[in-house]
Amino acid sequence: MTDKALDDTLLASLKDSLLRKRGEILAASTGTRPIPASADVNSRQGDMADQASGNNEVHIQLKLKATDAKILQAIEEALFRMEKGIYGVCRDCGDPIAPARLTAIPWTRVCISCKQKQSA
Ligand SMILES: [Zn+2]
Repeated sequence: MTDKALDDTLLASLKDSLLRKRGEILAASTGTRPIPASADVNSRQGDMADQASGNNEVHIQLKLKATDAKILQAIEEALFRMEKGIYGVCRDCGDPIAPARLTAIPWTRVCISCKQKQSA
């Protein structure tokens, strides 16, 4: 009898990935943001077109941050599920999530078929 689709070795490496990714996001959101060298060249002031592109950049950065926040939340949930021993189970249908999918996205909440239903 085994409820566990994941062996401990894989679980440990996934946990490692989660912790590392969490560290990356936290470092990125609290530390200095790397700015591409080209941003300086394009940020001349006093020109309508430049202002527009400037606004666009801000928009993109906000979007990235929102995505990071979502991932961060998902990582916390994944770590919590690991603590509870229910990691790797689809939130929607309760089926085990394929280890390959977990390896690719360790913080995923749903299996691939539920994910496809979501985005459809
Ligand atoms: Zn599912």
